Amino acid sequence: MKSVILVFIFSSTLLFGQAKVWLQILGSGGPESGDKRASTGYIVWINGKSRILVDFGGGASLRFEEVNAKIPNLDVILLTHLHVDHTADLPALLKSAFFTRASGNLLLYGPKENNYMPSTEDFIRRLFEDGKGAWQYLGDHLDGSARLQIKAYDIDDSRKVKEIYREGDIHIFAVSVHHGSIPALAYRVNIGSKSITFSGDMNGDYHTLETLAKDTDILVAHNAVPKGATGVAANLHMTPGIIGKIAQKAHPKRVVLSHRMLRTLGREKVTLHEIHKYYKGSVKFANDKSLYRIK
Ligand SMILES: [Zn+2]
Repeated sequence: MKSVILVFIFSSTLLFGQAKVWLQILGSGGPESGDKRASTGYIVWINGKSRILVDFGGGASLRFEEVNAKIPNLDVILLTHLHVDHTADLPALLKSAFFTRASGNLLLYGPKENNYMPSTEDFIRRLFEDGKGAWQYLGDHLDGSARLQIKAYDIDDSRKVKEIYREGDIHIFAVSVHHGSIPALAYRVNIGSKSITFSGDMNGDYHTLETLAKDTDILVAHNAVPKGATGVAANLHMTPGIIGKIAQKAHPKRVVLSHRMLRTLGREKVTLHEIHKYYKGSVKFANDKSLYRIK
């Protein structure tokens, strides 16, 4: 009897002690058509449920269906910034929620405004608010009348890592990153001792990702520009050498390269060589629907 109880306690610890966490890529592309990829979107699966969504660009909605993610299981949406290739499918997600049992508050975080972009709260109002939004017929998701309510929150521009969400063993952190003149954030999602860090679009100038991603299990870095990029492209995005230098300092267990564009596709060998000059760990090139288990 004693041994039966001990086996039960031991297997319970195995079953319930550590959450099973997977990162799934919805869209591994950028804003171009012709890359045959959906634009940016990621799911953090926790114990088989699609709990956290990071960005939701064009095409991510179809991938969301294809990987069998469920809107009622979503707790949080994290927007790295408000460019089209990171947000365009949000109206599709909200409309399709109507046909599910989704209810309660769906929290949505994103950057504060500057001269070029609205705040995330205002962005959501401009999309959906009754009397104001382009899709004002979905305004009941903001005014308390629909079962599912979108609660948007702005995150202040800060070069210090800040905790923005805590629920059970899920802790989410954010920090500002430099993406040209566009307000942009990187996020880290901790689930117990496991973690995934999302660079979003950034060029490395703020040197904030190194701290956020310290010893993370997976660093999702955006591979939007090739070695040797200069000018506007280098003001917006990390070259492979910069990804390598950040990974060298942050020391993630794995780097997953996403936001792949026509200018980086086909240049994987050079990209890998550049990154490995600084970072000797595992580097993977993401495709749509790629799945990575956090061990
Ligand atoms: Zn982008």
